[in-house]
Amino acid sequence: MNSLERTTKVLRGEIPDRVPVGLHNYLMACRLHGGRFDEILRSGELMAEAQLNAWRTFGHDVIMLEIGVCAEAEALGAKIRYTADGPPHVEEPLIKEPEDLDKLCVPDPERTFPLNEVLKTTRIVRQETNGKAFINGRSDQGPIALALALTGPERFLTMLADPEWQPWCRRCVEFCSRVNIALGEAQLRAGADSSTIGLAGTSLISPRLFDAFELPGTKAYCSALQRKGGFAFVHACGNETKLLNNLLATGADCLELDPGTDAEKCKRTVQGRASVLGMIDPAQVMRRGTPEVVREETSRILERMARGGGFIVGPGCALPADTPPENVAALMECVRREGIYGADGALKPGR
Ligand SMILES: [Zn+2]
Repeated sequence: MNSLERTTKVLRGEIPDRVPVGLHNYLMACRLHGGRFDEILRSGELMAEAQLNAWRTFGHDVIMLEIGVCAEAEALGAKIRYTADGPPHVEEPLIKEPEDLDKLCVPDPERTFPLNEVLKTTRIVRQETNGKAFINGRSDQGPIALALALTGPERFLTMLADPEWQPWCRRCVEFCSRVNIALGEAQLRAGADSSTIGLAGTSLISPRLFDAFELPGTKAYCSALQRKGGFAFVHACGNETKLLNNLLATGADCLELDPGTDAEKCKRTVQGRASVLGMIDPAQVMRRGTPEVVREETSRILERMARGGGFIVGPGCALPADTPPENVAALMECVRREGIYGADGALKPGR
């Protein structure tokens, strides 16, 4: 069974031969490739080389393609600061006055930098992996996160809490959702098997605001991808234990969760309704841990999350650039030994 078959089985609610591994590694891939991040991230060819090099080194199942969290904001005209060795940042908000929202148009991802380069990466990786890997070509920031990038985080959150500004906020997130759908559908056309948007979790907004402002656009995004035959993923950072049912209401095929979320509660709530990708700590375990710590933590999370399928193991968020390669190798080795399913959907004792 190859990585594409293995991962597709999980997302369809079937039991694969073993737990697939998803590697959220664009910064680490840049570092391993060598060279300036600002050059790699802005070139579809270089980013594809970096990702393919990482895939050939580690042999993970899900290749997660992105250039950070500013691609859509940049395509809309926001000024982005790239650096030689880290992720890009929004330099200043694009929407300075509320009426600026009405001047924005949904960009054509095929023709607008940097989305055209993002799609080029997906096309090259699709061609070079030739149906052997599962490709997650990401759609950047979800409705609220993109609205935060465009408006300025504090300003948008203040407006969101003010009933007088809520109609404007609703229009803003509706627009952002249309940008997400345009990129997500273009990712599928470029050869991605799935796409992801990053959602605003409970560290930013209440579940009530999530339902009112994040859910409608995210539902539209997920069903748009599914109509085109792709799998829809949503990403939420932090402890989202209280938001699990709201996340499931988006209709996503897979929730990308980090270790803040309670694994046991998550397994009980999500099993049979969606899959989960994560939940290994990218910083404390993958970057700062030893290979032995990575093995212990992988073992622990497999035990809690893998039973009966529905799980893709990996870091719950982007790996820092300087994550030791031997830690990723330890993760892979542990999953290949301990992540094998028996016919009953339980993991075979592999230790
Ligand atoms: Zn995250």
